[in-house]
Amino acid sequence: MKNTSKTIHFISNIFNDKCPRCAKGYVFKQDDSIFQIPIMHATCETCNYHFDREPGYFLGAMYISYALAVLQGILTYILLYITVPSLSTFYEILIIILVIILFARKNYKLSRIIYIHIFPW
Ligand SMILES: [Zn+2]
Repeated sequence: MKNTSKTIHFISNIFNDKCPRCAKGYVFKQDDSIFQIPIMHATCETCNYHFDREPGYFLGAMYISYALAVLQGILTYILLYITVPSLSTFYEILIIILVIILFARKNYKLSRIIYIHIFPW
């Protein structure tokens, strides 16, 4: 029961953009525009946890971002296959690319947040 609660908090912190140490401060600035690249805080506002551990620390987050994009592509394909089975391959690929572009900003933030939660220090 205790592990289930821990897992729920872990996932909740990731989706709510919270610090891996204190779970109170935000990892990214909350007032940025949706048309700009999300800006990350250098340290946690609450516990002063340093998010960027070392130069190149977030290179590993690229793999998570790639996995998220592939997952979204597969889910989009399955959804299209179920709802519009007669759709041509060209439009399927076009829609999948559009979905991946639409979620690119969210993937960028989510992949970094997942990465700092997996490798906190
Ligand atoms: Zn913190």
